[in-house]
Amino acid sequence: MKLLCDLTLEELKTLLKEYGQPSFRAKQMMSHIVSGRELGDMSNIPKELIAKLKEDGWRAIGIRIERSFTSSIDGTVKYLYELYDGNIIEGVLMRYKYGNTLCVSTQVGCAMGCRFCASTLGGLVRNLSAGEILSQVIAVSALNADKDHRGVTNVVLMGSGEPLDNYENVTKFLGLLASENGLNISKRNVSLSTCGLCERMIRLADEGFTPVLTVSLHAPFDEMRKKIMPVANKYTVAQLMGAAKYYFEKTGRRVIFEYSLIAGENDTKECAEELVRLMKGFSCHVNLIHLNYVKERGLKGSDESAIDKFRKILDNNGVSCSVRRSMGSDIEGACGQLRRKYIQENKKE
Ligand code: SAH
Repeated sequence: MKLLCDLTLEELKTLLKEYGQPSFRAKQMMSHIVSGRELGDMSNIPKELIAKLKEDGWRAIGIRIERSFTSSIDGTVKYLYELYDGNIIEGVLMRYKYGNTLCVSTQVGCAMGCRFCASTLGGLVRNLSAGEILSQVIAVSALNADKDHRGVTNVVLMGSGEPLDNYENVTKFLGLLASENGLNISKRNVSLSTCGLCERMIRLADEGFTPVLTVSLHAPFDEMRKKIMPVANKYTVAQLMGAAKYYFEKTGRRVIFEYSLIAGENDTKECAEELVRLMKGFSCHVNLIHLNYVKERGLKGSDESAIDKFRKILDNNGVSCSVRRSMGSDIEGACGQLRRKYIQENKKE
């Protein structure tokens, strides 16, 4: 599929030149695209140009919001999007005092195989293009904006998929998102979560990309991590810490570690103490997460008192940490759950 939202302003100028258009047309068109308008709704663009672009198979935006579910607890909205090829992906909009954070997917499914995660149950279906990732932000932004506020102020690449397993498209997306002629979302307001593909973390820093890097650690010991996350067979915890430190030194951005607590597995005193040892002297932050129950996985999250004990060990040893608030728990908030449910229900019909 040819998507205009996949193009930078320069690429759009080049394309429109082939259609005999002056270069200001690209800016006009870009402003329609990032406002969520399809080709038929671009008022000040010549009709003949629109018709030719359509004839040649171009579309402005790569997705359509199929359904949305709003949490009655905290106003979190979960979106199901349909891609042009019928694939379904999902995203979540979280409302905070300072603005709206959208969690975007970077792949359909995921190849990483983490034992607690619903997104990876069916494996990787395909990568999303830069424009398909951007389309999620465009569509939700258009729906939620009013005259004084942007619909989306912050973006986290924490939905389905492993962003660094789709490196080229994801880095192009980071550029498009920050573009002054596009959505112009500040680079400071973007976070990227990875299960820890070390060479790619280093490459990201070397190539000058500076999202807040969030590393899914989930276990401080290699053997334990291997049982939870297959990626640990490829990289040791020591290598992962090395890559995270490199990222911090190169970008000056404090790295965040994600740690989902699984009852009786990674929530012990020994784990907390090893985590302290790993984090000592490193300017970083640890996010402790309530495990979301995924029925196919059967893993149980730690209870409040175990989480509290774990947190205290980190606190008492000077490791900056917080327990992440669980949002949208009444609307299948966990990664990949909603897409799975939707696909299963629609199969039955
Ligand atoms: N692949 C990337 C980004 C997507 S997952 C990564 O691994 O970081 C986003 C975050 O949600 C990760 O920290 C992941 O470990 C976590 N996650 C996935 N399923 C979860 C579940 N059932 N409960 C709690 N956290 C989960």
